[in-house]
Amino acid sequence: MLSNQYTIIAIQQIINAGGNIVKDYNISTLLTDSRRISNPAGGLFFALSGRRNGHEFIAEAYAGGVRNFVVKHGTDIKAPESNFLMVDDVLAALQTLAAYHRNRFNLEVIGITGSNGKTIVKEWLYQLLSPDKNVVRNPKSYNSQIGVPLSVWQINEKNDLGIFEAGISTVGEIEKLEAVIRPTVGILTHIGPAHDEGFENRNQKITEKLKLFKNCRLLIHNYDQLISFQDNIPVESRFTWSTNFKQADLYVFSEAVVSKNYYLRARYKDAEIECLIPFLDEASVENAIVCWATMLALGYAPAEADDRIERLNAVSMRLELKTGINDCSVIDDSYNSDIQSLEIALNFLTQQNQHQKKTLILSDIYQSGLQADVLYRQVADMIKIKQVDKFIGVGEALMARQDYFDMPEKFFYPDTQAMLQHLRTLNFKGETILIKGSRSFEFERISRALVQKAHETILEINLNALLNNLNFYRSRLKQGVKVMAIVKAFSYGSGTFEVANILQYNKVDYLAVAYIDEGVSLRNTGISLPVMIFNPEASAFDKLIEFNLEPVIYSFGLLDEFITYAQEKNVLNYPVHLKIDTGMHRLGFEDFEIETLCDLLEANRYIRVQSVFSHLVASEAAKHDKFTKKQISNFETAYKQIELTLGYKVIKHISNTSGITRWPGAHYDMVRLGIGLYGIDTGMETPDTGLQPVATLKTSVAQVKKIKAGETLSYSRSGSLTKDGKIATVRIGYADGYLRAFGNGVGKMLVKGVLAPTVGNITMDMCMIDVTGIDVKEGDEVIIFNEQQRINDLATQIGTIPYEILTNVSQRVKRVYFYE
Ligand SMILES: *Cc1c(COP(=O)(O)O)cnc(C)c1O
Repeated sequence: MLSNQYTIIAIQQIINAGGNIVKDYNISTLLTDSRRISNPAGGLFFALSGRRNGHEFIAEAYAGGVRNFVVKHGTDIKAPESNFLMVDDVLAALQTLAAYHRNRFNLEVIGITGSNGKTIVKEWLYQLLSPDKNVVRNPKSYNSQIGVPLSVWQINEKNDLGIFEAGISTVGEIEKLEAVIRPTVGILTHIGPAHDEGFENRNQKITEKLKLFKNCRLLIHNYDQLISFQDNIPVESRFTWSTNFKQADLYVFSEAVVSKNYYLRARYKDAEIECLIPFLDEASVENAIVCWATMLALGYAPAEADDRIERLNAVSMRLELKTGINDCSVIDDSYNSDIQSLEIALNFLTQQNQHQKKTLILSDIYQSGLQADVLYRQVADMIKIKQVDKFIGVGEALMARQDYFDMPEKFFYPDTQAMLQHLRTLNFKGETILIKGSRSFEFERISRALVQKAHETILEINLNALLNNLNFYRSRLKQGVKVMAIVKAFSYGSGTFEVANILQYNKVDYLAVAYIDEGVSLRNTGISLPVMIFNPEASAFDKLIEFNLEPVIYSFGLLDEFITYAQEKNVLNYPVHLKIDTGMHRLGFEDFEIETLCDLLEANRYIRVQSVFSHLVASEAAKHDKFTKKQISNFETAYKQIELTLGYKVIKHISNTSGITRWPGAHYDMVRLGIGLYGIDTGMETPDTGLQPVATLKTSVAQVKKIKAGETLSYSRSGSLTKDGKIATVRIGYADGYLRAFGNGVGKMLVKGVLAPTVGNITMDMCMIDVTGIDVKEGDEVIIFNEQQRINDLATQIGTIPYEILTNVSQRVKRVYFYE
């Protein structure tokens, strides 16, 4: 029996669950997401109730072949041949099972926590220690209450080192993760402001985090950070590092930049030692010092540590979705390859439906801890389940196992160079291509060949943040209230099908766009959700019906046109949405028209009213609350009359983003979520609680010039500096959406973390910023907005609203989506 295979009977005992076992099964896979079922026959589904009630997904998991479930006591579900283990707390049961599994193995386990750098330190230690150890670690940054048990579950008897990170957001969580990870060696990384809101103060947060180490024999940490905690450190042996204090075990006393490397010298055991770090940014240097300290603490010789650290590779935990050549989409995950992250990337591939054809380019996988035959069988099975149409295997190990792979098209090459030579015969066209390779295969070369060359100004969309925001708003809704996501105007400038596919996969109920052709594009890129069209044009009714899009009817004229059309085409019961004007005075039936409307609707066979809705004009603003209340009561009067006439229930909705947060009584059956998805909610008092910014607009420096006081620059000699200084010309202008209003010092951009004001007029493709005193050179990155300088701040600078800033980013600016 495999070491992580348990009978369901054994599991019932381990987690102390009730319920009758109707049939014994061998369980090897733990499942928590019904959309991501792998190995259903050996899978155990934990019906976690979080933002969504896990029990609703039992049916889906059952349909996917799962027969074993852990559910909360009292859940009444029957399914043939299935076992339901009953517990009080499903998450606790998952953790108990993982902790049991962990405790069967007597291996060294490094536990990492801190606010920043956990994932990088974990991945780097993996790079540094895997030459001599068989390492098991969290995939990506799976460090949550759910992610940690799933990570620990992978331990098998071949592993002799575990490296697990733990993330917490509030008090009481870390003990649970400690019990699952049971680290023997601890590492505390940088403590910063992340998750401060979950704790009374910074000290409480640190005290909590230290609890991870209560059973460790050794703790590695920054000396400075724990000075005031000396009495609370729960371990006997410590290894400290510092750049300030001589008494640290590793005292770094000199730092210098030597040709793109960071060169450190330190005192260690009364000797001087050195280390070259192949990164320059502050965070990477700190993380690398943590790794350095860890290697020394574990007994590596300084020379060996230096030698390995010098060869560290950048860690990219994110996969990026980009526009490819020949109408392809490229999912770039070219920096790491193991079976867990392959599964995550394949799930992402299946979410993106814009092209029917799905392609995977995969390299050999190293360090899996599995025998090659077993590993590649698993890989082949996984790829088959995920319905990859075209498979390209690169590497000797894959090449030797071509017959494992069974799909319409398959190709194998011994190395990356050979594959690139055959690029033309591979004939990539109109497909979604996932590129996934181990570091040494340098798959970034493949990515460069397949991705459309980006103009250097890009809008980055963080899909994790988008999902966070979706779930944030969901958590505000009563059970059963539907979510319509508004994706008009290229999803507020963020791109249509990429965002829409993610929303569809995450089960929003409806999408809405402004015009029929926007709806047609959604259909053409794999969207099967119902789609509402705010502003349907009569000239495109045939497309509307052909693509099964649902029009908003807002006037008698439109109603008449649509019914006439439906009559001609013999369309019956076509779903439509009625818009009521309760005060916006833009589109919609007014209160005095409702009666006539009802007369027209009565006994009309051509349409079926799917929903009745209205739009709040100032849901975000307290000073208009009286008006909002009036709108809500007008709406109630209108829909009641309409429902009475129709004789059936319709979906009722009035709340936009700020309506969700500020008007919980006005959610009715559905809410319409727009700008909140992008982390912006002008109705929230503290704008960032729980929301995450989604978009980053960045460009680069084209040239740097010295300017003397009084010299003028840009058109009409509009700009000048008051003292001698330096300007940088950057690659963004009003044609990219950086409006002229930002010129002459009104707008600012972030260069190396410092805000640099614009100088002179913004030109079409470029503009100038004052970088006096900032160390900047050609090619450096310049941020227009991100989580530091927010879209809200830009809106304030030029006296507009965030909606306009976001939707102004022109289509010439390439969108890159990433997902971690
Ligand atoms: C754009 C729009 C929304 C979304 O509004 P947000 O404030 O972005 O949430 C909702 N309803 C209608 C009718 C809209 O036009």
